[in-house]
Amino acid sequence: MNKLYTLEHARALDREDSLAPFREEFLIKDPSLIYLDGNSLGRLPLKAEEHMERAIREQWGENLIRSWNEHWYTQSEQLGKQIARIIGAHPDEVIISDSTSVNLYKLAYGALQLMEGRTEIISDDMNFPSDLYIIQGLIKQLGARHSLRLLNSPDGISADMRELSRLVNHNIALITLSHVAYKSSYLYDMEQVTELAHAKGALVLWDLSHSVGVVPVNLNGAGADLAVGCTYKYLNGGPGSPAFLYVKRELQERLENPIQGWFGDLNPFDFHLHYRESEGIRKFLAGTPPVISISGLEPALDLILDAGMDRIRQKSESQSEYLLSLVRELLSDKGIGVGSPVLSERRGSHISLKHKEAYRICKALSDPEVGDGVVIPDFREPNNIRLGISPLYTSYEEIYRAIMQLNEIITNELYEKYALTRDRVT
Ligand SMILES: *Cc1c(COP(=O)(O)O)cnc(C)c1O
Repeated sequence: MNKLYTLEHARALDREDSLAPFREEFLIKDPSLIYLDGNSLGRLPLKAEEHMERAIREQWGENLIRSWNEHWYTQSEQLGKQIARIIGAHPDEVIISDSTSVNLYKLAYGALQLMEGRTEIISDDMNFPSDLYIIQGLIKQLGARHSLRLLNSPDGISADMRELSRLVNHNIALITLSHVAYKSSYLYDMEQVTELAHAKGALVLWDLSHSVGVVPVNLNGAGADLAVGCTYKYLNGGPGSPAFLYVKRELQERLENPIQGWFGDLNPFDFHLHYRESEGIRKFLAGTPPVISISGLEPALDLILDAGMDRIRQKSESQSEYLLSLVRELLSDKGIGVGSPVLSERRGSHISLKHKEAYRICKALSDPEVGDGVVIPDFREPNNIRLGISPLYTSYEEIYRAIMQLNEIITNELYEKYALTRDRVT
C-alpha cells in the first residue's frame, strides 16, 4: 500500500503535531479506546476533575453558603468572559446559563417581541431538532401569529445560499440556524448570512453548539445579533454542563427575557416583590445556576485558550483531510459515501460517512470482540456514522486505526451479527 496510508505515517504526523502534548491534559485510562465522539461529549480534562473535587470539598463542604459571595454568584459572568474570547465577543456580551434549548427559547422570544409586526422565522431542515421544537412551541405560545419556514438542503449536506437569499424579505423577524450542522457538519458563512438578514432588517440567532471550541467564531466581526451554544461538546465542560448565551451590546436593553427569575433581577437578595431587571447580560439569567456542574468549565476553557483557535482549526482541518483521504483510498468502492461537505472551509470538525448498514457498523466498531480495540463513533439516523475530531486529544494514529477497523468491518461484513433494534441513546 501507498506509504501515506500506513501506521508509521500516522505516527509521524503525530510527532510533528504541536498540539499533541494537550492529549496528556485529559484522562485517558485506556489508550486503546479510540474516542471519536468529542462532538457529543468531550473527554474529561484532568484539571476539571481536580477543580470539581475542590468545588465539592472546599466550596460546598467547608465554606458552605459563604461560597456564594466568594465564588458562585459571579461565576456565570466570569466564565462568560472566557467564552467571549473564544467566540469573538465583548466580555459583557456572554453569560453561562441554563441549557442551549432554554437559552434559544429566551433569545428567540426576545427577538420576536422586538420584531413585533414581522411574522416569519427562517431555519433549515438540517437544524438540530430541539432548536426547531423550541421555535414551534414558541409560535404556539405567541398565539400562532408567526410561521416557521425551513430552507431545504438540496442534498442533506449543504445549504443553498441563493435559495436562502430568495427567502429573506421584510417580513422575516428572525433567522435561526446552527453554525455547523450536527449531521453533515456543514459550516455556514456567518458573515454572509448576517449581512443577508440585516439587509432586510431581520435578526439572526446562531446556535454554536457544534462549532464553539473547534471552529473560529467571530460574532462581533460578523455583526451577529444573538447566539447560544453548549459547553459539553468541544469545550469539554462535562455531561450536562450549562450552556451559554450571547446578546450583542446594542440589543441587551431592548431584548426581553421571558423567564423573569430572581437571578435576572437587579438584586436578588433584596427579596422585593416586583421584578426590576438587571443591567446588562445578567438579565438573561433565570434561577440558581448549577454551581458544581459549572466548576469543571474553567480549566476546560483554559485548555482551549492556551491552544488557540487558529491552531485548533488548523489541526482539525488537517485531520479531517487525512481521514477523508483514508476513506477515499480504502472505502470508496465499498458502499461508503461521504455525507459532509467536500470543501474544508465549509465543514466543521466531524465527518459523516454514509452506509446503508451504518447502525450495525457503529455497533461493530464499539464491540471489543471485533478488531484490535474499541472505536466510539456515533450513529445518526438514518444512515450516518459520525466521526468527531477533537484536536486537543484526537491523534492521527487513532484516526488511522479507526478507519482500518471500519474497513475490516465493511469488507468482511462483520456487522451482520448485530440486531437492527436501536439503543435508546445513540
Ligand atoms: C448539542 C446541541 C444542542 C443541545 O441542547 P441542550 O438543550 O443543551 O440539550 C442544541 N443545539 C445544537 C445544534 C446542538 O448540537
